[in-house]
Amino acid sequence: MRVVPISLPTPFYIGPVNVYLIAEDPLTIIDTGPKTKETIEALRAGLRKAGFLVSDLRRIVLTHAHEDHCGLARSLRDEAKNAEVFVHNWETGHRHSRLEYEEHRTLLVRAGVPDAEIERMRGLYEYMRRYADSFGDDEYTSLWDDGELEFESGSLRILHTPGHTPGSCSFLREADRTIIAGDCVLKRITPNPVLSPDPIDPSRRFPSLAEYLVSLARLRSFSPTLVYGGHGEPIHDYEELFHRYFRAFQDRQAQVIGHVPKNGVTAWDVALKMFPQADDVHRFLSVSEAVAHLDLAHSERKIGLELKNQTEVYKPLS
Ligand SMILES: [Zn+2]
Ligand SMILES: [Zn+2]
Repeated sequence: MRVVPISLPTPFYIGPVNVYLIAEDPLTIIDTGPKTKETIEALRAGLRKAGFLVSDLRRIVLTHAHEDHCGLARSLRDEAKNAEVFVHNWETGHRHSRLEYEEHRTLLVRAGVPDAEIERMRGLYEYMRRYADSFGDDEYTSLWDDGELEFESGSLRILHTPGHTPGSCSFLREADRTIIAGDCVLKRITPNPVLSPDPIDPSRRFPSLAEYLVSLARLRSFSPTLVYGGHGEPIHDYEELFHRYFRAFQDRQAQVIGHVPKNGVTAWDVALKMFPQADDVHRFLSVSEAVAHLDLAHSERKIGLELKNQTEVYKPLS
């Protein structure tokens, strides 16, 4: 099975995104890059170099539905006629601008984010929308855990690896223990467990960090020899990275608990203390990070939580 990594430019802070062409029948691309002219041109060039055209694509598979990964899915599908789009159905909440949903607003209010900040975040996401088209519910096939994407000479096993987003998926080639992991595993940065409504009960928060830790351990159970991430270089030593992630999470966890004073704090307060310089989309990501760690600390009974006027206040356990 020939896996061809293609690096594509994005207008985002994160830099280029990696998409993966499986150069085999049925011709499949895993992730697409955002909807920009530069990206589609770079993708065409990458496909051409491997001997293909966009119109040869038969399957468009998405690791998750963030704009930098899914933006071109619709254009590619339309151009490639009959190409099928696959994405986990827990990603449906991300197909439109995430913060326009009432559920998201509720989660941000509960995290103590001031109204003016919520409005600013909404504006940013309205802006992000231009980089991705949305899909109707009947326009994609849902990826399913432990399913197989069959190819002429083998298959990729679908692994639902939630955490970065609820419907994030990874793809395992068992023959040589290669994994394509999207933003679940990145070489140089620790992925952010993004604040999301729970797909099963949108009035609740998705326990992103707890789910993420399980996903990382699950990937480890396959003893991968090579992991292709959504950004940056491939990872040849997953074991080392796994331990590095865990140490980083433990440090962050201790830091977050250290920011919980006797009189209590909201996730927003903690985010401001941890990342005072964060602006733009990083405000939202810093709140995500704070909530994820506070949630985990609370679920492990390291801190207490009470609801005050619709806002969650974390306190030390007395
Ligand atoms: Zn992402
Ligand atoms: Zn990404």
